[in-house]
Amino acid sequence: MIQILIHYFLHFIFIGAIAYWYDKDNWKKYWLILLATMLVDVDHLFADPMFHPNRCSIGFHYLHSEYIIPLYFLGAIFIKHKIIRLVMIGLTFHMITDFLDCLWMYWKCEECSATEVFEAVF
Ligand SMILES: [Zn+2]
Repeated sequence: MIQILIHYFLHFIFIGAIAYWYDKDNWKKYWLILLATMLVDVDHLFADPMFHPNRCSIGFHYLHSEYIIPLYFLGAIFIKHKIIRLVMIGLTFHMITDFLDCLWMYWKCEECSATEVFEAVF
């Protein structure tokens, strides 16, 4: 339960703090943009089964793959365009949040979280 609370806190509330840090004067607008980066989870629609409580998103879904995550990270550092850069920061943070969830899942139940990447990491 606490895990779910923390997950959604990070996904929805904490990004408000990121928006504030990014630009104090327009933080509400930037918060909305960060919320929009949640759309990256549309890739779950292509997964089968669509929802699985013990599955680690990282390395499983297309937009959460280990090939694309470095691009988000690099974009967050190097892209000059303010909005696009914020989107990249949002995506990077999203991946960190999802990854924390994976770690948590793994600590609770080693056998439950079985994706290839995950086994490679540990
Ligand atoms: Zn996700």
